[in-house]
Amino acid sequence: MYPKSINNLKEAFRYLKGVGEKTAERYAFEVLGMDDIQTDFLSESIKNVKKKVKRCKICGNFTEDDDVCPICNDTLRNKDYLCVVEDPRMISYIEKQGIFHGYYHVLNGLISTLDGINPEDIRLDKLIKRIEEGNFKEVIIAVKPCLEGEMTSLYINNVLSGMNLEVSRIASGIPMGADIEYIDPITLERAFDNRKKIE
Ligand SMILES: [Zn+2]
Repeated sequence: MYPKSINNLKEAFRYLKGVGEKTAERYAFEVLGMDDIQTDFLSESIKNVKKKVKRCKICGNFTEDDDVCPICNDTLRNKDYLCVVEDPRMISYIEKQGIFHGYYHVLNGLISTLDGINPEDIRLDKLIKRIEEGNFKEVIIAVKPCLEGEMTSLYINNVLSGMNLEVSRIASGIPMGADIEYIDPITLERAFDNRKKIE
């Protein structure tokens, strides 16, 4: 039997997806072996991420000091392009590769009739309003290649038809249902270069 504090810490690590009993125990003992600076940094970082991080009021990306994220605040980016993603992590991933220089819009997930997720649940109204008020020439949809991604892309294309802009989707090549952290940079770059107009 361990002291209560160790058990609590173990329990806390179990909150993390994929962390089982043994890993949680190892993490707890690693923390026990850290110095005060490290444990303060660890606990402060956890508190701050919840306290300080919010969603950008324009695009839905993560932001900290400002209500608007650094990308939306950057007036030097290419105003012709808007890239639609379903997860703010995708923005960070695309930015790291330096393959896109326009602006972004984050959906709150994807349309899924099976799970009862409708267009109004995923910030699509905000996207449409933004496009109506903006001057974009092309909307590039960069969501996961899966049934829900397909439905969401078609829906967006439908509501935007008649507006004076092109709607494209990044090319497949990204494996079906792949988690974004497993998509390699070259595949992502190719998917952007070979994007197709949605018919
Ligand atoms: Zn933003």
